[in-house]
Amino acid sequence: DFQDIAHPVAVGITTSAGPAMPVISGLPDDLFASDGQITKRPIRALTLSALAPRAGETLWDIGAGSGSIGIEWLLAHPANRALAIEGDPIRAARARTNAANLGVDRLQMIEGRAPETWPDGPAPDAVFIGGGLSEALLAALWARLPADTRLVANAVTLESESLLARWHGLKGGALLRVELADAAPIGTRHGWKARYPVVQWSVTL
Ligand code: SAH
Repeated sequence: DFQDIAHPVAVGITTSAGPAMPVISGLPDDLFASDGQITKRPIRALTLSALAPRAGETLWDIGAGSGSIGIEWLLAHPANRALAIEGDPIRAARARTNAANLGVDRLQMIEGRAPETWPDGPAPDAVFIGGGLSEALLAALWARLPADTRLVANAVTLESESLLARWHGLKGGALLRVELADAAPIGTRHGWKARYPVVQWSVTL
């Protein structure tokens, strides 16, 4: 288990209690149990940066998967809150366990599909869409949330990407395309193995 330490001096140090958990967003993927549906570390770091949590703010993490985005939002500050909406009950249960294991069991899991499933209570400061991106979801966010809400949406498929391009045309904000590649063996040498590009839209409602 990773342990919190009072004054971490380096990433990856080991204390008598075990390896110390890094204090910055973009934690190792293997800290989150998943079935592969997880926003991978470099994209997660960029996503948290775009979401830009301030102390005491609330996030809705829509299509929460392993819960990694909501969990890192909560780890950013003890006063932060996060609601995670996940349509798959097995993933929702896993996200809950991940949150508890990483010390943020205050992650509020809501099992259901957005936008039909919609959280009660106060409006969020920021919304992340990691799954379930649709015309209906974007329309519901604009119709039902206050005008200063920050939204970040990630798209991997061409269909989601074209939806984001159209809404970027309507609402503005910033579109970022992230193309990453990892060095991987080619015989005895190495070459760049491309990951799927991710298109990220950041906008204020
Ligand atoms: N950000 C997540 C990965 C998301 S994968 C992480 O880091 O783990 C996309 C997730 O969206 C999947 O778990 C899928 O079950 C969920 N999903 C898809 N459509 C949805 C919808 N309409 N409402 C809620 N969840 C949805």
